[in-house]
Amino acid sequence: MRNTVTIQIHTGGFDSTPASLDIPAIKKKLSGFYNKTHVECVMIGWNPKAEIGELVDYLRQQGTGVYLWLPVFSGLDGFSPLIGTNRTPVVHSYKAEKGERFDFGCPADHNNIRHIKQYFEANFSDDYYDGIFLDKIRFPSFISGKDPVLTCFCPFCQPLHNLSEIREPLNTENPLDLVAYTGLRYEISNENLAELFAYKARTVTDSVTALATYFRGKGYKIGLDLFAPYLSFFVGQDYNGLAKCADFIKPMFYRETYAPAGLPFELNMYAAAFGGDPHMIESRKQHLLRVANTSEVNVDFINREIIGIREVIGDTKLYAGIEINYNERIAPITTPYIRENISQLKNADGFALSWDLCSTPDDNISAALEAL
Ligand SMILES: [Zn+2]
Repeated sequence: MRNTVTIQIHTGGFDSTPASLDIPAIKKKLSGFYNKTHVECVMIGWNPKAEIGELVDYLRQQGTGVYLWLPVFSGLDGFSPLIGTNRTPVVHSYKAEKGERFDFGCPADHNNIRHIKQYFEANFSDDYYDGIFLDKIRFPSFISGKDPVLTCFCPFCQPLHNLSEIREPLNTENPLDLVAYTGLRYEISNENLAELFAYKARTVTDSVTALATYFRGKGYKIGLDLFAPYLSFFVGQDYNGLAKCADFIKPMFYRETYAPAGLPFELNMYAAAFGGDPHMIESRKQHLLRVANTSEVNVDFINREIIGIREVIGDTKLYAGIEINYNERIAPITTPYIRENISQLKNADGFALSWDLCSTPDDNISAALEAL
């Protein structure tokens, strides 16, 4: 059976110099996929000044959907900060490649949602796009420690103000009192922590639903970039709620990415966020994997995650997000890894080939084409 793929092209951050796109080279790479598979859409973003007209014309000629790749709660100035348990702003900077930002505004704050709509209208309301691919639709993860996760107590997060003190998680192998992982959610024995994460899920779902409704009202389709389920719980991404407002979702199954959303990376950040010696940190990591019913993050585990996702997303399409790009330090993607993912991941509607076609070596494209 012919596979379906979606493809991402990064054009630079909101306020960085736009990437100078080599359009003939991009067309050559894309033509390989057109010869072999169905390209459902290409997600292009998010620099507003990038010259993409010729690329969009080409994609239109091929009948490929064109999506704007749009980060939502991180990447712009002007967001009000998250507020921590001590009622002061939470610092959660993280230095990423190419100036990509991971300083999140609170998803509950209606001003933040208005802010991204205004930015869109000022910079992207042209007729290039068929859909909007919403990225960074979440609360922060553990990449800057535990404090950004144990939020938020801003004026928009009133329901959390009623919780009795969220106790400082202990320096144990199970600091969040995780009991079980079923239906893509963790059962947590500590009532305050359970309510914190339930609140985050409701908040992100409500905000993304409002934003998706706004874009759908303008005639756009919606795609969502999501953490893998066993990590998404901690950032407020609930597949059940979010899938309802999307035409497709892209769970990021990045097993070889050592940067935010990467599966080994985020797991290590969780384990390290609560302190302790290397032995404790390793025990904490192994404990979470045991709760998630696996011994390691491998293809079998991802396939179980995909089956779990299918049970809650109805007719929404699922494109498994896998890396094909190459970055020596944070994404050393090899051809065997690409072949393993494409040949062994099952039950998705296709693959989201990430993160950026322009930084994908020819060998990696050849490996993907062979396996598709
Ligand atoms: Zn808040």
